[in-house]
Amino acid sequence: MGSRGILFFADSWFSPSPAKPGLCERSDAILEFMPETANLIHEILPVGMLQCNCHIVGDSRTHEAIVIDPGDDAGQILEVIGRHRLKVRAIVITHTHIDHVAGLHRIHQATAAPVYIHPDDVELYRMLDMQAAWIGWKAPERVQVDQLLREGDSLRWGPFAAQVIHTPGHTQGSICLYMPSEIPEARAAVAAKSAERSPGRLFAGDTLFAGSIGRTDLWGGSFDAIIGSLKGKLLELPDDTIVYPGHGEATTIGRERSANPFLIGN
Ligand SMILES: [Zn+2]
Ligand SMILES: [Zn+2]
Repeated sequence: MGSRGILFFADSWFSPSPAKPGLCERSDAILEFMPETANLIHEILPVGMLQCNCHIVGDSRTHEAIVIDPGDDAGQILEVIGRHRLKVRAIVITHTHIDHVAGLHRIHQATAAPVYIHPDDVELYRMLDMQAAWIGWKAPERVQVDQLLREGDSLRWGPFAAQVIHTPGHTQGSICLYMPSEIPEARAAVAAKSAERSPGRLFAGDTLFAGSIGRTDLWGGSFDAIIGSLKGKLLELPDDTIVYPGHGEATTIGRERSANPFLIGN
């Protein structure tokens, strides 16, 4: 496949694409949503040709961290991990499209952290060579999947916790990771009653984008399933929840509820 083919693919991987701001505007958009946090480290790296958002979410006191979707550019990801002296406790994959896992082997080797994937996306991960051929990339090395993630599972690292929400539709095993608050657990109960509660964070993979939703015409995709996941699960979250999509700028549940053409009126 020539470069035109790849570029076409890049544009269409998460269609229909919203207007794409420049990189600086994108960073500003993300910063606009960043709540004040004392100990939370949250670095967002758009990696690879398709600019998959890789997240490094860590705690500056315990140095424990997770990495979400190491889609490529492993050297950059490892540089951020090293700069903050982080110990990676888990590598979480929102879904196993190649643009979200191409850097996984190197990050897994360098950190020895366990890899978490939903069981319904394991077969798609086994098809990585076929995905690579389809997109015209060199097939990345695969890793052993250590842990299977299911609806309602909790991940804990440092003082933080996040909950797995299974959101099939873009792929059968797509998940979102919901981090209710960055507040340390011991104070969470008090904070939950407080007006000063910080908004939660949703790592949405390719299920929800600012102004759009994930495409459903690839392997295992289902439009009915993604709409069910969005309306039945993600729209149940508070409006102030900050949404970090797998590509593009951050948004909020409230903004998408009122302005996303696929979700308006829900
Ligand atoms: Zn995808
Ligand atoms: Zn993607």
